[in-house]
Amino acid sequence: MDKEFCSCEAYSHEQSLDQFMVGLEKRNPGEPEFHQAVKEVMSDLIPFVKENLEYSETCILERLTEPDRIISFRVTWEADDGSVRVNRGWRVQFNNSIGPYKGGLRFHPSVTQSVLKFLGFEQILKNSLTGLPMGGGKGGSNFNPKGKSDREVMRFCQAFMTELHRHIGPNTDIPAGDIGVGAREVSFLFGQYKRLANEFTGTLTGKSLEFGGSLGRTEATGYGCVYFLNHMLEHADEEISGKTIAVSGSGNVAIYAIEKATELGGKVVTASDSGGFIHDPDGIDAEKLAFIKDLKEVKRGRISEYADKYSSATFHEGRPWSIPVDIALPCATQNEINEAEAETLIKNGVKAVSEGANMPTELPGIHAFKKAKILFGPAKAANAGGVAVSGLEQSQNALRLSWSKEEVDGRLRDIMEDIHSKCVTYGEAETDDPVDYVKGANIAGFIKVAKAMNAYGTM
Ligand code: NDP
Repeated sequence: MDKEFCSCEAYSHEQSLDQFMVGLEKRNPGEPEFHQAVKEVMSDLIPFVKENLEYSETCILERLTEPDRIISFRVTWEADDGSVRVNRGWRVQFNNSIGPYKGGLRFHPSVTQSVLKFLGFEQILKNSLTGLPMGGGKGGSNFNPKGKSDREVMRFCQAFMTELHRHIGPNTDIPAGDIGVGAREVSFLFGQYKRLANEFTGTLTGKSLEFGGSLGRTEATGYGCVYFLNHMLEHADEEISGKTIAVSGSGNVAIYAIEKATELGGKVVTASDSGGFIHDPDGIDAEKLAFIKDLKEVKRGRISEYADKYSSATFHEGRPWSIPVDIALPCATQNEINEAEAETLIKNGVKAVSEGANMPTELPGIHAFKKAKILFGPAKAANAGGVAVSGLEQSQNALRLSWSKEEVDGRLRDIMEDIHSKCVTYGEAETDDPVDYVKGANIAGFIKVAKAMNAYGTM
């Protein structure tokens, strides 16, 4: 490995986070989201690796931040009016040390290689935390499904899979959904995969129940995020019951986070989309949540329509973090809580934050929460329930079995409890401070992957 690239000798001396980031940014120019995700992780891993030379001697951090490969491809499809459209597709196969690449596909106009590298990098440690044999990957396209007809979405998905299918497989790489890729898109993608590969295998997860999907997968990320929150609160002698909660987003993760938090006695007072947020001081109860499900999952409408329907609610532009609450569950997208919003939440008395979305809190916001001793559950731990149940979907496909919803939910609860314990093991403070869940998740996720990479030798 070129000397400039690998600086492992420096670890045993005084390599700093700044030095590491200078090298990473030079090798990956113009990728701010990827830089941000790596910086957050390395601020915990560099001190850990310095104390554990078995990792520093093999340049593990540089290897971990370099994807195995990135596949980038043209997706040409035809709109309903007969015009030809061109988008770009990617699959970032980041690290398969502990299992086949596993991670979702995102269809959104904001998708870039940088966004997918940040998501793929986070996925390595998240998947490791679940305890299941899954490596890290992510993919997607800058295609915008909003405003497209079903047939346009179908043609896009088929064109996307026509290229992607040669790079994936049940023992190679197993994609799933993410923003803009729900049941409809996974069905189109899986149908095309099956056609081209001429085999019926569990190569995608998040499938519908009729063709190999798992009960409980739709709910898994939102429920898991609330299970993790519950463990953080219990560890601090608190509980969800009676707390007011702000949720952002109104997609897959947000809907089921609202459902579980309400079931456990919390009162969720906000939901949002990219147009703004609704504030309902009476709480989003089961009937109102059914309205949101129908609005978002079937009608593909806007959250502002909630305020037209329920007089208890008001609609506002922007994000929901100015509303005073005990708990915040960011479940929409990356960088949706900045430092000022974190300070506002703290000033208003927030006690806990559990990240349903990936990297929703900017780094200065995380520092503000930590400084204020708020319980902070980072995405790679708090939202790992989705990929965990995807792993269970793969197991069921391989066994040609279907587990009951109760069985899947029981396994999900066990996995979230185990992730919480691992975070406590590596993140518990010696003082009265709360557990540092960011550090705990980073180190616990890292160790398993690093041990595997070392066992394979320097490749
Ligand atoms: P969905 O597409 O179902 O929903 C996304 C929600 O976030 C929508 O309400 C959307 O509003 C809103 N949103 C998206 N982009 C923005 C933006 N730039 N500003 C404001 N709001 C925005 O996605 P998911 O619920 O599946 O995913 C949400 C987050 O959770 C993502 O970060 C994803 O990576 C993460 N995640 C998802 C998992 C899963 O199993 N689905 C697993 C683990 C993590 P609008 O409709 O207006 O675009």
